[in-house]
Amino acid sequence: MKTFDVLIIGGSAAGLSSALILGSAIGKPFAEGKKIGIITHQKASALNNAELNNVLGFKKGTKGTDVLNIGLHQLAEDFPHVTQIAKEKVVSIKGESPNFTVKTNKNEYTASIIVVAIGPSNMFNIEGLMQYVIPHKSIPPQKEKIMLINNNHLVTEGIFVAGVLAGWRSQYAIAAGSGAQVATDILTIWNNGNHTMIHDVIE
Ligand SMILES: Cc1cc2nc3c(=O)[nH]c(=O)nc-3n(C[C@H](O)[C@H](O)[C@H](O)COP(=O)(O)OP(=O)(O)OC[C@H]3O[C@@H](n4cnc5c(N)ncnc54)[C@H](O)[C@@H]3O)c2cc1C
Repeated sequence: MKTFDVLIIGGSAAGLSSALILGSAIGKPFAEGKKIGIITHQKASALNNAELNNVLGFKKGTKGTDVLNIGLHQLAEDFPHVTQIAKEKVVSIKGESPNFTVKTNKNEYTASIIVVAIGPSNMFNIEGLMQYVIPHKSIPPQKEKIMLINNNHLVTEGIFVAGVLAGWRSQYAIAAGSGAQVATDILTIWNNGNHTMIHDVIE
């Protein structure tokens, strides 16, 4: 069974943004030896039907499907130490911080910290998280979307929620920013509570 310090669930705007920032901490002493994984399921992403004409840095007509694909390659090329797990869907999360067991339709993993970034569909059915599901607070009720109760993305000790499932409105930049915020929260935990960001500087 593979073991992770942090396992991200969901390979879209929020999940991939989180993985990129966690991956970019490579070389920092507090991140040394940390095992980072992401379950890159993308079939159910809102981006599959999206054309993004209002995102900073994206050319007019950018297709969500291209962003999903590029995101996987960017992560693999720039941060190959982040384990990508494709074609698996999470069905249950059991245990308590820091010993969670994440079960997919194919495998089981253990993780100390979990990031749930799987979007606001009301088909949500991950065993172990159902007690945190409430109607989404920032999407019109007729759309029947859901979110997980959280306090600044923290659902319960060791479990973070990111993206639209955290209760944010559905815009790419907001979901990506939410994933980025959660990643820096985790880096801050690893760095003994010292607020942490990863910035590269032009040499
Ligand atoms: C038609 C359409 C057009 C849009 N146009 C725009 C636009 O022009 N501008 C803009 O800013 N935003 C736009 N959006 C919104 C944008 O796509 C979303 O805000 C963004 O994709 C949310 O990202 P997320 O990571 O929170 O969730 P999602 O993108 O929904 O990703 C959730 C991920 O979790 C995975 N997943 C689900 N269940 C499981 C499971 N059990 N186990 C593992 N993985 C799982 C999914 O496959 C998916 O990859 C549009 C959305 C739609 C639907």
